[in-house]
This record gives sequence, structure tokens and C-alpha cells, in this order.
Amino acid sequence: MFNSREQWLDFILNALPDHVFILDKNGLYVDSYGGQYNSENFDAKSYIGLSLDQVLSPAKAAELQACIDQVIEQRETLVVRYSLKLQDHLLLSLEELHNADIPEESWFEAIINYIAPINDDSHKVMWSVRNVTQTHLLEKKLKKLSETDELTGVLNRRAFLLELEQAFSSLPDKNEHLVCLMIDIDHFKEINDMVGHLSGDEVIKQVASICQKQIRNSDHIGRLGGEEFGVVLSNTNAIQAFDVAERIRLSIRSTVCPVDGHDIYPTVSIGIAEFNQQVDSVKALLINADTAMYYSKRMGRDQVTIYHDTLPDLKIHSAAKTRILKAS
Ligand code: GH3
Ligand code: MG
Ligand code: MG
Repeated sequence: MFNSREQWLDFILNALPDHVFILDKNGLYVDSYGGQYNSENFDAKSYIGLSLDQVLSPAKAAELQACIDQVIEQRETLVVRYSLKLQDHLLLSLEELHNADIPEESWFEAIINYIAPINDDSHKVMWSVRNVTQTHLLEKKLKKLSETDELTGVLNRRAFLLELEQAFSSLPDKNEHLVCLMIDIDHFKEINDMVGHLSGDEVIKQVASICQKQIRNSDHIGRLGGEEFGVVLSNTNAIQAFDVAERIRLSIRSTVCPVDGHDIYPTVSIGIAEFNQQVDSVKALLINADTAMYYSKRMGRDQVTIYHDTLPDLKIHSAAKTRILKAS
């Protein structure tokens, strides 16, 4: 069937499941093999002789050219994941663009190897690429699930604390204000006693949803525990945060939550803490927000308190504290 080893190797190369492109240092497609597993309708051989900027939108061509430059410069293998939107493919016909089978955006994973010059002086790369759209979408879905609180749909505790850590570590670069709110539903045990635990959950959901509506998309809200939420407001000082917290408080107290034939008007107590020179960690910020929140509780609930250095720590009554210390 094969007259020469060369024919046999050519057959094998074209039977490779992944696309393998040979590109020169200027982004010219020198050769192309395989890809049967990836896309049956795509003729990769037709790319031979064309360059990245004839095939892809200027931004994508530049992105992929930068990968080639890096591999040739550093002589090392690069693994990259990138996306291509329909409009990035310059060679797609109008019919293909309207073909419902092609997703709006596809994701690819490429292993790019350096190929040293053999007969001429041109450096090249071997661009072996696989369509990973399904895997990418699944990973995104799993990541979202792992970060989301099941009941309320806001961030879970772990994801919220990570956001706060990230915002904290980028503070010196941005030279911005950063504020954390701690929000706790008032007398929630009584609400649970009145309507039952499951209906109590509906109240938690409603409070989360109101908080979410009152903050910007760039801010973050997370459920820290049972009926307690944290909010990170970036580029916001404590005074501005007070307005946001008041909006949240007033909106919650004036929105009825109808459960099990009861019309419940929950209220919340809120504590606000701002990063400043005295606050050297996320933990310290959370403790300050918590202290301010407990102050709101002790002052009668349904109110907002901004933390400051002279705010008394009312978390545990001193007599109770002594008992706990003795017991431990
Ligand atoms: P305070 O005004 O001082 O906050 O009073 P509280 O009754 O809200 O007191 P606390 O915050 O200590 O109690 C929270 C209660 O929330 C205790 C627990 O039974 C209840 N809880 C915790 N997690 C959940 C949950 O996921 N669903 C429901 N329905 N209740 C929860
Ligand atoms: Mg509570
Ligand atoms: Mg609580």
C-alpha cells in the first residue's frame, strides 16, 4: 500500500488526532498535519503558505505571534490555552459564520515546541493544538460551583476570603481604599423558631439577594456562615461604605419576606472596617468589621457602625468571657 517509508510517515502524520502546524518565526504556516479528531470540516492544509495575520484577526494574530516569539527566543516548550471567537477567523465564509454548529467561542490548548534551523536559517515552531472547548466550559462550571454558596448563590466563605486576600495584596499597587462590611441578620433564631429552619433559609436568600443588588458588579459578597455575610467594596472609603451599608439596611427592613403565611421584615446589623496603616492583615480587617457589627447589635440592632480605634469590644460580656476563660 505504501511505496516508501516517506509515504507511510506522511500517512501517520496526517492521521494524528491533533492539528500540528509548522510555523516559521514570522508566523507563516509552513506545513500542517493531522487534526482529524478536532474538526472534520476544517481544511488545515489550506493554511499552508498563509500567515497568522491572513488567517486571524489582528489581535489574535499578535497574541499567537507573541507565543512563537517566546518559544524561539527562549528555546523552550510553551503550553498555552487561548480562545477564538467566530469573528477571529478571517477565512470563514458567511455561511460558515451562520452555521449554528460552530460555537461563538472555541477554546484551544497548544503545545508549542522549538524547531532549530536545519537546512536554511529560519527558526520554526511545531504548534500542536487540540480543541478543548468542552473541557474548558466544564472546568469553568466546576470552578463556579466550588466558589458558590448553594443556598444563596453568592460566594461561599472560602471564595470570599480569597477575594478579600487578593484585593488586600493588590492594595499597595493601586493605592486605593478597601472596605469590608460584616452583615448579620438580627434575631434570626426567633425567625427560625417562628417559621422553621427551611423557611428561615428563604429569609437568608432574600437578604443575600438584596445585598447583591445594592453593590457594584466589581464588589464581592460572600456568605461567611449561617446568616452572616461579608462584603468587599474596593476603591471605597468608610464614609462611602456607610452609605452603601445604610442602603442595604433600609432595603432589607422595608422588603417583606412572605414565608409560610408570615410576613417577615428581617433587619440586619452591619459593621464596617477600612484598611489603613494599623490594619496589617485580612484577619485584622475582619476582626475590626466583626467588632463594629457587634457594636451595632449591642446598641439595639438594625444599624450600621464604622470601626474606629476607640470603639469598645462588646463581643462577649466580660463576666461571660471570664467564665469561658476559666472553663478552658
Ligand atoms: P442576633 O441578633 O444577636 O444575631 O441574634 P440571632 O438569633 O441571629 O443569633 P445568632 O446570629 O447567634 O444565631 C444565628 C442562628 O442562625 C443560629 C442558627 O440556628 C441559625 N442558622 C445558622 N445557619 C442556618 C441556616 O443555614 N439556615 C437557617 N434557617 N438557620 C441557620
Ligand atoms: Mg444573627
Ligand atoms: Mg450570626
